[in-house]
Amino acid sequence: MNREMRFHIRLRAGTVCTLLAVALAVFHSIPCLKAEPAMDVLEMEIQQIQEERDAIEQSSLSAEEKGGALQNAKDKVVLLSERNRQFPARISSANSFYHIYATTTQTAYHYMHEADHVYSEYVRLFTNYRFSNEYPAHILVYPDHATYLKYEKVNPAVAGHAMSDRLTFKKYVETSKGLEVEEELRPGTKLQRLAFYVPAADDLNQTTFAHELAHLFNWDMVNQDAPAGDEITPNLFLNEGLAEYFGVMDDRKQHELRIAALRRITKPVGPWEWLGLPTYPPYLKIREFYAEAYLFSRWLTDQKPVAGERLKAFLAIHSLEEAEETMQQLTQRFVPRIDLNAYAAYRQKILE
Ligand SMILES: [Zn+2]
Repeated sequence: MNREMRFHIRLRAGTVCTLLAVALAVFHSIPCLKAEPAMDVLEMEIQQIQEERDAIEQSSLSAEEKGGALQNAKDKVVLLSERNRQFPARISSANSFYHIYATTTQTAYHYMHEADHVYSEYVRLFTNYRFSNEYPAHILVYPDHATYLKYEKVNPAVAGHAMSDRLTFKKYVETSKGLEVEEELRPGTKLQRLAFYVPAADDLNQTTFAHELAHLFNWDMVNQDAPAGDEITPNLFLNEGLAEYFGVMDDRKQHELRIAALRRITKPVGPWEWLGLPTYPPYLKIREFYAEAYLFSRWLTDQKPVAGERLKAFLAIHSLEEAEETMQQLTQRFVPRIDLNAYAAYRQKILE
């Protein structure tokens, strides 16, 4: 689907406010949108370190130990303040789903509309799901890869990352072993945070934003009723597979890249085995893992009308035993079993 078509689909699917925002974004106007995020995650991250600093000052550490820890905290604040100045454009979407932090207002609007597009596709699959806008997604759009790496401290191979968690503040606690850092949970608060960079025109990471956003939705969906502290991490294979599916949905070239990766595999591990995997596979298998996750999820999304219900149930499993149990329960609700032979046939046809 090209950009033109996506634009039209968004106009039809959007609320009046979104529609206005799309039209007005072209002229870089702001009405209908809140100018400032209610909670500013950039400032909050500095506040977290300042609270850490206060705790160090009040602790019974030796002057020397205090000095080192305080300097460390001070350096972090300097770095984060410098980072925050990179984001003069901070907007909230009218539906309060997203707070976007970017270098220009135009970029912020662009990703706000991208986010709306991914969300509308997401709820087309998971028809009972609604994003809890009580806890908006904070989206940090870095201008380039180098800036992203400088402030986010991630592996250089990473193009973007999403974090879903309860909002925690670090505090220092005196123990018999000395001073230890403890995470203090602020009840009733969730943090949905996504950071990535604007890819260059020829960059392969064009799909990263939609991919990472789908991770936030996946987590939110499986944890909507979870009490604080009892949240689950979505099933690794399907979490990545669905993220890949939403990341790739508008991009034929990205689809082909994943199919080409699968064609090179002579002895595939197979989706059922991958489903039970608790951690990411070794480096040599990672490409196969993502490509198979993509194709398997894509196949599952096609199984209307049960696709959403089945995928949601499977996002909560963490072992093959749980997968089998979930399958039994779904079958009792007249949801057909996942037919691995049918998937094998589909896979073979696509790989031809
Ligand atoms: Zn991912």
